[in-house]
Amino acid sequence: DERGLGWRFDNSYARLPEDFFVPATPAAVREPRVSILNDRLADELGLDLGAITTEAAAALFAGQDPPAGSRPIAQAYAGHQFGHLTMLGDGRAILLGEHRTPDGRLVDIQFKGTGRTRFSRGGDGRAALGPMLREYLISEAMAALGIPTTRSLAVVTTGEPVYRETARHGAVLTRVAASHLRVGTFQYAAALEDEPALRALADYAVDRHYPELADASRKYLEFFRAVADRQASLVARWQLAGFVHGVMNTDNMAISGETIDYGPCAFMNAYDPGTVFSSIDLHGRYAYGNQPKIARWNLARFAEALLPLLDPDPEEAVAVATEVLDDFAVRFEENWLAGMRKKLGLRTDEAGDAELVQSLLGWMQGSRADFTNTFRDLSDGTPAGDRYQDPGFQAWYARWQERLCREGRSLASTNAVMRAVNPAVIPRNPRVEEALSAAEDRDDMAPLHRLLTALASPYEARAELAEYREPPADECGYRTFCGT
Ligand code: AMP
Ligand code: MG
Ligand code: MG
Repeated sequence: DERGLGWRFDNSYARLPEDFFVPATPAAVREPRVSILNDRLADELGLDLGAITTEAAAALFAGQDPPAGSRPIAQAYAGHQFGHLTMLGDGRAILLGEHRTPDGRLVDIQFKGTGRTRFSRGGDGRAALGPMLREYLISEAMAALGIPTTRSLAVVTTGEPVYRETARHGAVLTRVAASHLRVGTFQYAAALEDEPALRALADYAVDRHYPELADASRKYLEFFRAVADRQASLVARWQLAGFVHGVMNTDNMAISGETIDYGPCAFMNAYDPGTVFSSIDLHGRYAYGNQPKIARWNLARFAEALLPLLDPDPEEAVAVATEVLDDFAVRFEENWLAGMRKKLGLRTDEAGDAELVQSLLGWMQGSRADFTNTFRDLSDGTPAGDRYQDPGFQAWYARWQERLCREGRSLASTNAVMRAVNPAVIPRNPRVEEALSAAEDRDDMAPLHRLLTALASPYEARAELAEYREPPADECGYRTFCGT
């Protein structure tokens, strides 16, 4: 475009039936200022941030100057929130359109925090700086860990307050996603009771994310299966990294298989399937150990929305959908066990492996061992430290060594392989909070930049990263809040 940044916009979502979106305009704001720009991601996207001034970047990423070729809209969707179906839609987000990257991918460019839309209900459509930097930080950390995720291109402050419990700095996040199609988008389409619209949405999703299925004989069933497979892989990756999403409502599950909507998410420290951080998740619905079950529950809601497309005979549609859901549980277990084998340096499959893993997890839970550091310590040779003198651990360790021995490889080569899958650095909650409050309260971005640098190579254990590896001493009271 004329600014030379390199945008190449399409507006493919906006060609869907008009029920699926409404036009939207980012609100004018007083004084846009860049908080952080993701130069590396910009490069990958073929965007030349160097071509514009910081002031122009601030205005652009505050939504003040929609790029040529963009067509700002708010997307309609529904969603089960903590089990209850609600009509939602982008209440504080605006999609500019889809940008074509140099490697030919089509990615959504979305602003979050640009003011009210038709779907805002009681909300102000705004976002506070802390939660937007939190999404930036965690999504970039997830990407560096190799876990499919939406990305964060920029955070800018608006120069205007947003009112939450207190007045906070208003901010806008620019999110980059394979798409923002959600399970909830299909629930919305189903609620329209307009089969051609539902079919148009499904065709669009297939075209965008599963083009190899375009000519499949049972296209929509295969689409459902492909989405379920990607979720089985994704949620296994979460479990293997100790990631707790925190708000797995059906509107927060992406059809692309990316992690989406970073609100109250956090990484588990001491291994405990009951780990919950979100202040609003009072019953632990979205606890770490429930994530696979919830994913299946969400996929069942997805199947319900798709039923008319799955088979002309409603009973047959239910039967084939149920089969896919049952397969999901199997696929999840396969992905999870394969990942755990890698974490333990095992290259072959043996019947006792699942039990070997469960036995380690059981020990971790009983001794409140740190999930991330235990696997990393195992990757670094014979684990030292008092905790590992425990006879329970020693017995497990001997079994594991025997198991490795049967593969006939050296400990050194096993350890190198393990270090490539067991991170040394994850976003530890105290480090995250420190970095966010320095940015929000003191306008000091240095801690956040240092943390981002550490998280950019999570599998490297450089000595200067030691402070980022320390688990919190006691985290019983640590709570996260929904991204507002
Ligand atoms: P989330 O909890 O981020 O998944 O959002 C759930 C719904 O609430 C979505 O429809 C959001 O667009 C909407 N929402 C969240 N925060 C705001 C806000 N400050 N103003 C308007 N809508 C909001
Ligand atoms: Mg959401
Ligand atoms: Mg959110």
